[in-house]
Amino acid sequence: MIQLKSEREIEIMARGGRILAETVQHVEQRVAPGMTTADLDEIAERFIRGKGAIPAFKGLYNFPASVCTSINQEIVHGIPSKKRVIKEGDLVSVDIGVRLDGYYTDSATTVAVGKIDAVSQKLLDVTRAALAAGIAAATSDNHIGDIGAAVQGVVEAAGFSVVRELVGHGIGVAFHEEPQVPNYGKPKRGARLTPGLTIAIEPMVNVGKPATRTMADRWTVVSADGSRSAHFEHTVAITRDGPRVLTSLVNEASARPTVAV
Ligand code: MG
Ligand code: MG
Repeated sequence: MIQLKSEREIEIMARGGRILAETVQHVEQRVAPGMTTADLDEIAERFIRGKGAIPAFKGLYNFPASVCTSINQEIVHGIPSKKRVIKEGDLVSVDIGVRLDGYYTDSATTVAVGKIDAVSQKLLDVTRAALAAGIAAATSDNHIGDIGAAVQGVVEAAGFSVVRELVGHGIGVAFHEEPQVPNYGKPKRGARLTPGLTIAIEPMVNVGKPATRTMADRWTVVSADGSRSAHFEHTVAITRDGPRVLTSLVNEASARPTVAV
């Protein structure tokens, strides 16, 4: 069942989302060669708790850390580790959830560590643009399929592929709510987007083929062909005035897509 949120609930999510956006920025500014992924986890957790919020991932489905850190061919759900050292040229995806006053928000970014190769830079640009296109399609009276079609269009036009096995989701009272929000689809298909719907839109894009594999830790999902992958995510509320990005530090109008790839 899709759970629509009142304006009051969306304002609570916006407050949590603001803390999450600040957390993402705080982590992005600190990623550097020689750090471990456990360092990123610690930095994020301390920042979230310092703002009076709760890191949502810790214990969610028994996940052991506050953030997911996924490097290069890892798509999502990497477990932070003191043994995993970040290197120059890496793409580090950091996925973070926040709970504030009983409501969840979810956001992810992929950070370039120092100098990265041209294909990796294109991957970041395309995935960011795909998220922007997905958000732009999140208008009332559009459907879930319009979001997926918009994301898929940007990704495939660039020659990359959309991961199928993992999808975006409704979010709010629970971390994962209905509906699922795939990063592929057909316009005008799926649930109708209604004001009050709050969803996480999160393209996961592989340079190579879309197929995935789960590692022996039973969490980390990697591209089956070993190609690099990127992940960007925002929590978005559907409003009468258009999509409202709840996890961005820039205002809504400028958060709308201006990027063309
Ligand atoms: Mg996430
Ligand atoms: Mg999510």
